[in-house]
Amino acid sequence: MRIDVITLFPEWVTGLRELGVTGRAVRDERVDLRVWNPRDFSTDAHQRVDDRPYGGGPGMVMQAQPLADTLAAVAPGAAAVTLLSPQGQRFDQQLATEMAARDRLVLICGRYEGIDQRFVDKHVDESVSIGDFVLSGGELAAAVVIDAVLRQLPGVLGHADSAAQDSFSDGVLDCPHYTRPEQWQGQPVPPVLLSGDHAAVARWRRQQALLASWRHRPDLLSCVQQQGGLSQQDYTLLQPLLQQPKQN
Ligand code: SAM
Repeated sequence: MRIDVITLFPEWVTGLRELGVTGRAVRDERVDLRVWNPRDFSTDAHQRVDDRPYGGGPGMVMQAQPLADTLAAVAPGAAAVTLLSPQGQRFDQQLATEMAARDRLVLICGRYEGIDQRFVDKHVDESVSIGDFVLSGGELAAAVVIDAVLRQLPGVLGHADSAAQDSFSDGVLDCPHYTRPEQWQGQPVPPVLLSGDHAAVARWRRQQALLASWRHRPDLLSCVQQQGGLSQQDYTLLQPLLQQPKQN
């Protein structure tokens, strides 16, 4: 996969090339992550990339020309051009999976009050929001998208099943996890995890995932149920849980 990020603050994004899962994906050449600064494409003598808004009001607006010339250099071809924006489609695991199936991502990070709408109208194919709050720039949002997308690519995570076990991948939340020591501050690890009985462990994990979803995200559980995503065994596992009081 190739990812091009257009940003006035490249340092916010270049760190992804060095660190953690995204860094490993770059080193293993599973992704070609390129970062472009519209300031390098400004035709202004002082490399200006923003100006005051027509109609007055506070703040600055990113100008169309530097962005358009940057995009021309990126040459997206048939790839969709994605703007990070609080006004966009809400980013979720389903969209991450869909984006992970693409050959290329072209991500544009806004700053200030936003981007001249004429550039957006002409060049942007989709807008993506990471939630109903306003960030100071699209870079953190782009980093969120890149991380969530890259961990879905085959071979990027250490263990092939890791992404499949994550919350949301099959519509419900993940189960709790435990590691050594067996006792910590008087709390034991659930005995089933020490039993060596793989079927029992799988059953327990599924039950705990259903329980976490029922407690914390009943909307997810209803959605999976409506889509026919719960098996007869899931209903059997859920039954005793539904008798319990809801608690954290
Ligand atoms: N005036 C804009 C509005 O209210 O819709 C907000 C501009 S914001 C200060 C600057 C940039 O941050 C936006 O152009 C966008 O690229 C990015 N941004 C802010 N919040 C975001 C969010 N929730 N998801 C994705 N990008 C966001």
